[in-house]
Amino acid sequence: MTRITVAKGDGIGPEIMDATLDIIQAAGAKIEIDFIEVGEQVYLSGNTSGIAKESWDIIRKNKVFLKAPITTPQGGGYKSLNVTTRKFLGLYANVRPCLSLHPYVDTKHPVMDIVIIRENEEDLYAGIEHQQTDEVVQCLKLISRPGCEKIVRYAFEYAKQNGRKKVTCFTKDNIMKQTDGLFHKVFDEIAAKYPEIENEHWIIDIGAAKMSDTPELFDVIVMPNLYGDVLSDIAAQIAGSVGLAGSSNIGESCAMFEAIHGSAPRRAGQNVANPSGLLQGAILMLQHIGQSDVAERVQNAWLKTIEDGIHTYDIYQEGTSTQKVGTKEFAQAVIANLGQSPTKLKPVQYADKPQMQLPTYQRKPSAVKTLIGVDLFVHWAGSNPDELAEQVKALNTDTATLSMITNRGIKVWPEGFPETFCTDHWRCRFKGVDAALTIPQLLAKAYEQGIDVIKTENLYEFDGKPAFSLGQGQ
Ligand code: NAD
Repeated sequence: MTRITVAKGDGIGPEIMDATLDIIQAAGAKIEIDFIEVGEQVYLSGNTSGIAKESWDIIRKNKVFLKAPITTPQGGGYKSLNVTTRKFLGLYANVRPCLSLHPYVDTKHPVMDIVIIRENEEDLYAGIEHQQTDEVVQCLKLISRPGCEKIVRYAFEYAKQNGRKKVTCFTKDNIMKQTDGLFHKVFDEIAAKYPEIENEHWIIDIGAAKMSDTPELFDVIVMPNLYGDVLSDIAAQIAGSVGLAGSSNIGESCAMFEAIHGSAPRRAGQNVANPSGLLQGAILMLQHIGQSDVAERVQNAWLKTIEDGIHTYDIYQEGTSTQKVGTKEFAQAVIANLGQSPTKLKPVQYADKPQMQLPTYQRKPSAVKTLIGVDLFVHWAGSNPDELAEQVKALNTDTATLSMITNRGIKVWPEGFPETFCTDHWRCRFKGVDAALTIPQLLAKAYEQGIDVIKTENLYEFDGKPAFSLGQGQ
């Protein structure tokens, strides 16, 4: 028996959770359940995180959490429970298998069987945002080496355990050379340790286009958080429907399993929703808790039901489907098929696998870090960069001198183009800062002269190599 935590969620959540639990229990899942309440009611009772402290205790004790979708009320500063759960519990890997069920579920891609592995904790989802000037807001994109190492290693270990042949990495490192560049670099380092698995890297834009056009070229795809969020929905949709996909969120000690769709409030309480996405989440959970035999029975019965044409409204099609059923009837049909396998779709065979043991992160020896300059970001409502340069040059010290001004990354001084559009957010780069003391001096002078510095970024060399981006056009 494994004790798990279950939240029935909001909207269609309770109906699809009941259907899912009925199916897996009928299939012989050896589970004991602690139910907790999360979501809309908890938010509206004044708890902006959507979950009570006692519920966290239960989730952390049981370590395995099956969660139906929840509704995050709009406005009012409510925090997304999904993002909070992933980060609080360190669920660094989001795994979404996307399989086409052609010809029983309509898809333009009859041969598609990909798994998207999305980094789940960092990137733009660190949620660190600030308004800096009247016209400019900023979101920090944070990528860490341990974050990259964990997710990339997870992707290769997943491929190895699941007999997958290739791992592809998507980034935009031709533009974001530091952040996406680190992800790509770590991918190359770790890929070299798995010579038996093919590896490749695509720039995300053409990679995404290719994945949407010819998904059969891909197998496992690993990527940073934001790209993974977008592409995993695309992959699920082009495989057939977002209503059919489940996902797991895996951490070093806890794991959460869910459908990828939301709470579809307009469909709630009508017994029409498709429980398949959550059921797929539950199948991933059963494999995770070492009940692969039960997972296999459920998946084969589900495939048989889909193949029999017993479909909920969202995938129902005249000609292919034989029966349009509601949530409960669909669950009963799957239960009736337990013990059977599909005859046209490929039946699955799952074997229990050892829990993945990833090496703990080993911090590398520190590099030699040298401060060589500073970017002062200035709020200035003027339009002629030469005027700003004259004001800011007055801050020059014996060692630090203004070397460049950019606006939204493009160099506008010296030798900017009058055509370049400028907003009120300017980066003034000082080179030759050879001691941390210079920065407070620059700031103090700027304050005296009424220059509105909104933030600074230090410019470093690590082991003698510049570790910051140049101005565009520099
Ligand atoms: P949604 O996925 O809930 O619904 C979009 C549409 O897809 C629905 O109108 C419905 O027609 C269809 N659909 C989705 N799931 C279905 C199913 N199982 N069966 C049949 N049809 C289905 O997305 P949304 O409308 O953007 O979001 C609704 C709420 O869900 C929001 O409050 C959002 O915050 C929340 N949400 C929660 C999660 C989660 O808890 N994991 C994820 C996404 C959205």
